Amino acid sequence: MKICVLGAGESGVGAALLAKHLKHEVFVSDGGTILKKFRTEMIENQIDFEAQCHSFDKILFADLIVKSPGIPDDAYVVKSCLDNSIPVISEIEYASRFTKAKLIGITGSNGKTTTTLLTYHILKNAGLSVEMGGNVGKSFARLLTEPHKEFYVLELSSFQLDGCPDLKPFIAILLNITPDHLDRYNYRMEHYIESKFRITANQQKDDYLIFNPLDKNISDFILTDAPSASLLPIPKELVKDGKLVAAEDLNINLELCSLKGMHNHMNIYCALKVAQILGVSKEKMEEGLSSFKNAPHRMELVTTYKGIEFINDSKATNVDATFYALQATESPIIWIAGGVDKGNDYQQIEKLVAQKVKTLICLGSDNSKLEDFFKTTVLDINSCNSMTKAIEIAKQKAEKGDVVLLSPACASFDLFKNYIDRGDQFKKKIEELNK
Ligand code: ADP
Repeated sequence: MKICVLGAGESGVGAALLAKHLKHEVFVSDGGTILKKFRTEMIENQIDFEAQCHSFDKILFADLIVKSPGIPDDAYVVKSCLDNSIPVISEIEYASRFTKAKLIGITGSNGKTTTTLLTYHILKNAGLSVEMGGNVGKSFARLLTEPHKEFYVLELSSFQLDGCPDLKPFIAILLNITPDHLDRYNYRMEHYIESKFRITANQQKDDYLIFNPLDKNISDFILTDAPSASLLPIPKELVKDGKLVAAEDLNINLELCSLKGMHNHMNIYCALKVAQILGVSKEKMEEGLSSFKNAPHRMELVTTYKGIEFINDSKATNVDATFYALQATESPIIWIAGGVDKGNDYQQIEKLVAQKVKTLICLGSDNSKLEDFFKTTVLDINSCNSMTKAIEIAKQKAEKGDVVLLSPACASFDLFKNYIDRGDQFKKKIEELNK
């Protein structure tokens, strides 16, 4: 079998390594530059590759194309392959064809990484044979070049799901569907929704779909196009007396877990439901919950300085994530927001902002939309275009008992390399305050 992999990031290189492992003939083509660590890895593994060009004579010779999620379907190279009737699939689909392991697939517009890490942590702590990857950490294909496990917990983005015609997770989790990445879906929300629902398309009734019934995009789709999987809706009343109701007879003390807020209660529920299906005991669930530490930049408490809490939620790159951040945060809030607007509709958070935010610090190269929208809601609005300035203003304005919350609701590319750089700069400036 001749495989051509398009794109040489973690997903593409993982696919190439798996192809080599399976003794498939493989060629990797990347229209851009390739990171040094991936070049080295391909050279060490004798994988034939090219960068900054696409050699069609080689590409169109393949039996199967494995496309990286960053490459859109309408890219010339992809269209050419399809025009030549060569199947194009994603790395997740390719990998899934070479394992009998049970897959736990997790998707949604927000909360994928948190839920993936937590689910993995609880299962691993309970002693199950499990690995995790996909859109976080190692690619699924790379994981399959290592000793196989019984279960794989996979974070799946919509771009990855798009190239998965046959993927069949044993347990699928669909957290929420809110507008994001619409530029890749011709600005058609229904296409983005269909893409997310690919996670359950091949499931049968002995598989499970855990989903959020409060999300209208999800509940409407399920009503008109009922999945075949056994449906497990997240209960509407999740928390009673400080305990999370994971099942009729299974109440879990939420004090045990460092994850706070309603959005995280849903994430925790999903992880516990998976653990329950796989037979993990209540003791092990609680143990896993209490030792879990989330990845940085997601509602991360950085420090408390002179009675003021500083929270880094730089990963909130859309309005929905910021909604939950504001909801989970005690007021009064000094809110740092802004960046690259992805067609944001701030109405969804207007009420929360009115109730909780005392100062808004707009941090972006163009702050006019935020300033205009909130000018009647927030009395104190400030504008700046550097993290240094944002923290300077926050320090001036904040008083004991306040919370300084970086939850931008926007992408970061105007002033920062990415959300990690934005969160890291926030943390660095705060550390300087403490010195
Ligand atoms: P993803 O991998 O889908 O981007 P993350 O776990 O990295 O999700 O979280 C991204 C942002 O969304 C963070 O700001 C986080 O606080 C917020 N978030 C986490 N879980 C949820 C959820 N279930 N619903 C809405 N927002 C969430």
